[in-house]
Amino acid sequence: MASKELARVAKAEKAILDRYMSDYPIKLGQLARDLGVAIKVSSMGTGISGQISREGNQYVIRVNRNEARERQRFTIAHELAHYLLHRNVIDSSPEGITDTVLYRSGKPEQIEFEANRLAAEIVMPISLVEKEVQQRFRGVVTETTIESLASRFEVSKAAMEIKLSTLIEA
Ligand SMILES: [Zn+2]
Repeated sequence: MASKELARVAKAEKAILDRYMSDYPIKLGQLARDLGVAIKVSSMGTGISGQISREGNQYVIRVNRNEARERQRFTIAHELAHYLLHRNVIDSSPEGITDTVLYRSGKPEQIEFEANRLAAEIVMPISLVEKEVQQRFRGVVTETTIESLASRFEVSKAAMEIKLSTLIEA
């Protein structure tokens, strides 16, 4: 089942998301551009993974260049999720939302849970993951399945493992 956060995304933006969630690895750069969000890869303080803020009429995601590529991808998805779900929170603070490596921002924890769930859905759409598991691995999840899917979706093994565990429970 897709995350309930996905159902909360505004219709026009959901339509944009849908265009990108049918093919892996999810093209996050293009997705952000279509949503009107700029991405800047920059050196950020130790312990900071990313940030989203509003600069005039432009929303800007900054992602820490010192972190691993898969990690940067998840951070971009996490910040996009804030953009899609928590724009009022971003707008209400001049620095927007700044996330630590644990995706804590000092904002209510609930919004971080929501952003993490939607981010996981964006980089690993459940229907797409399910299809791959069935078609390539006959529904059997082993270490090899996890490694292979993590590399196809360009996510960390840990992230894919969590995703697959929700699949089995479902
Ligand atoms: Zn966050």
